[in-house]
Amino acid sequence: MAKGKINVSVENIFPLIKKFLYSDHEIFLRELISNATDATLKLKHLSSIGENKVEIGNPLIEIKVDKKGKKIHITDQGIGMTSDEVKKYINQVAFSGAEEFLEKYKDTAKDSGIIGHFGLGFYSAFMVSDKVEIITKSYKNDPAAHWTCDGSPEYTLKKCDKENRGTEIILHISKDSKEFLEETRIRTLLTKYNKFMPVPIKFGTKEISKKVGEGKEEKEIKETVDDIVNNPNPAWTKTPSDLKDQDYKEFYRELYPMQFEEPLFNIHLNVDYPFNLTGILYFPKISNDINMQKDRIQLYQNQVFVTDNVEGIVPEFLTLLRGVIDSPDIPLNVSRSYLQADGAVKKISNYITRKVADKLNSLFKKDRKGFEEKWNDIKVVIEYGMLSEDKFFDKAQNFALYPNVDSTFFTFEELKEKISKTQTDKDENLIVLYASNVNDQHSYIQAAKEKGYEVLLLDSPIISHLIQKLETSNEKIKFTRVDADVIDKLIQKDEKEVSKLNEKEKEKLKSIVEEVVPKEKYTVQLEAIDSDSAPFVITLPEFMRRMKEMQQSGGNGMFGNMPEIYNLIVNVNNPICSEILNSKSKAKKERLINQSLDLAKLSQNLLKGEELTSFIKRSLDLIK
Ligand code: ADP
Repeated sequence: MAKGKINVSVENIFPLIKKFLYSDHEIFLRELISNATDATLKLKHLSSIGENKVEIGNPLIEIKVDKKGKKIHITDQGIGMTSDEVKKYINQVAFSGAEEFLEKYKDTAKDSGIIGHFGLGFYSAFMVSDKVEIITKSYKNDPAAHWTCDGSPEYTLKKCDKENRGTEIILHISKDSKEFLEETRIRTLLTKYNKFMPVPIKFGTKEISKKVGEGKEEKEIKETVDDIVNNPNPAWTKTPSDLKDQDYKEFYRELYPMQFEEPLFNIHLNVDYPFNLTGILYFPKISNDINMQKDRIQLYQNQVFVTDNVEGIVPEFLTLLRGVIDSPDIPLNVSRSYLQADGAVKKISNYITRKVADKLNSLFKKDRKGFEEKWNDIKVVIEYGMLSEDKFFDKAQNFALYPNVDSTFFTFEELKEKISKTQTDKDENLIVLYASNVNDQHSYIQAAKEKGYEVLLLDSPIISHLIQKLETSNEKIKFTRVDADVIDKLIQKDEKEVSKLNEKEKEKLKSIVEEVVPKEKYTVQLEAIDSDSAPFVITLPEFMRRMKEMQQSGGNGMFGNMPEIYNLIVNVNNPICSEILNSKSKAKKERLINQSLDLAKLSQNLLKGEELTSFIKRSLDLIK
C-alpha cells in the first residue's frame, strides 16, 4: 500500500473550492459522468483501431444512490487506470488543474457573469463529499487500484481485487450535501445535464410490459429492465439528410416535453471549420408578447448540457428561438462580457445569423404562400433581427414581408413598385401608409382605401423602431400612419382641392374654432379637403407618436413626458364649416364646433367618459 501527500501548494484547497462554487455544487455529477463517458469512448476508440483485444460489448455507466450508507457510486466500464495512472492523472493532473483554477478565478469567481462550467473535472467530487474512493482496473493487464482521499491533501493507494475493467467512483456524501442522496434529486440532475450524453446511463431499473405469444396464446408480461435515462444519439448529432420532418418534431418534443405546440420549422446547424458546431434551432410560434419565453436554447459541449443561457453566444434576436447548440469551441470559464468580445464566439454568432437568414430565404423562395401564412408567428424575430443586426437586415430585404390590411403580402421592393405611381408627395417622397389596428383606425383606413391607396397593417410591438430604420436606410421614403395626416394633404400628386373659402373667411373661421376648442390640446389647421369628408379630422403628428412608441418599447426617454398634442384639421370645404362661419348665433356656432369635434374624436377613439355621455345627449337633442 502506498501513502502519499498530494502535491499542491494551496494547503486548504478543498474548503476554498467548496466556497467558490457554492451555488454550483450540483455539477459534480455532470463532471464525473463526463469522465466516465470519456473513459468509455477512449476504450471504444482503442478497440476500433485494433489496439484493444478485449470484447467491449455495450458499455454502460451506472449511477447508484445508497441512501443508508450515504454514498453515491458512479461506475463505468471504460478504459480504467493502473496504479501509476491514478498517481499521475488523479494526484498530479486533476489536482494541479484545480489549483490552476483557483489561481485563475480567485478574483472573478464571485462575478455572477461566469458560466457554470469550470472544467473542474474529478475534483468537483469534493464539493459534496467527505471522502472519495476510486476503484479502478485498467484495460491493460495490471492489478486493480483502490485510491482513497478524505479531503485533506493526504491519500492512500493500494491494490484491490476488482475483476471487471472500468472505474467505480464512490462519494461519501457530506452532511451539508445530503440532498444528493435523494433519488429524485439525482434523477433531475441526470435529466438536466446528461439527457443526451453519448454513453447509456443506467439509473435503477423499471418495469415494462411486453406482449409474448401469438393469437389466443398472446399475453402481456411484465419485465424488469435497466432504466436508461439518456438518449445517446440525439438528432443534432446525425446527418441532416438522414432525418425526416417527423424526426425533427420528435426531437423537439424530447427537448421540451412540456411544449404542446409544434415548431414552425427548424434549422440544422452543422459546421466543422473554422470552428466546430452542431445543433438544431426551431422557430416556435411567437406571440407579440416577447416576455412569454420560458423554454430556451440549450447549449451543450460534446453532448453535455452546459447552460440554457446563451446570451452573448447567439445574437439576441435569436434567443427567441428554441433548440440545441453543441460546440466545444465556446470558452465557458470566462465572463459574459469577455465572451462577447471573443473572436471565435463572434464567428459562431455570425454563422448562426447567416444560417437563419439563408433558411428563411429558402423557405420564402420554395413556398411563398406557406411563408406568408407563418409570417405573423415569426415576424417579431425577423423584425427584431433586422433592427439589431445589419447583416441580417440586408439579407432580410429578400424575405421580410409587409402585409396590407387585406392580407396581401409585399416585399419592400414590391411595395415600392406598387405605390411608386400613386403614393408620392410633392417632394417626390414615396409615402407608405400603414395602420397599427384595423378597428381603431377604421375610418382613416377606409378614407385611404377609397382613394385607392395601399394601407399596410404593421402591428408588431417594435415596429416603430423598424420604420425608423427603414426610413434612414431608404432615401425618399416616408412612413405615415393613416391617422397621422390627412390623406389629401399628404399625397398631393393630383390636383389639390380648391378652397371654397377666401383667405379672409378662412382666417375668421380659424379664430372662431380656436376660441372654442382647448388650445393646449389641439393645433388648428385649415385644409381644403373634398366636401364629403368630415368637417373636422383629428390627426396625430407621426414623428411625435412614433418617438413615444419607441420609448415605450425600449428606447431612451425624451418624448415620454411630452403632452399629447393633436392636429385638428378643419375641412373648409365641408358645408358645416360655412355654417359655422355664417351663423348669427354664438350658441349655434359653439354647438356645431363641439359636435364636429366630438365626431372627430369618436373616430380617433378619443371620446370617453363624461364627454361621451354629453355627446350622446347632444346628438339626441339634435334628432328630436
Ligand atoms: P479532465 O477530465 O479534464 O482531464 P479530470 O480532473 O476530470 O480532468 O481527470 C483527470 C484525469 O483522470 C483524466 O484525464 C483521466 O485520464 C483520468 N480519469 C478521471 N476519471 C476517470 C475514469 N472514470 N476512468 C478513467 N480515467 C479517468
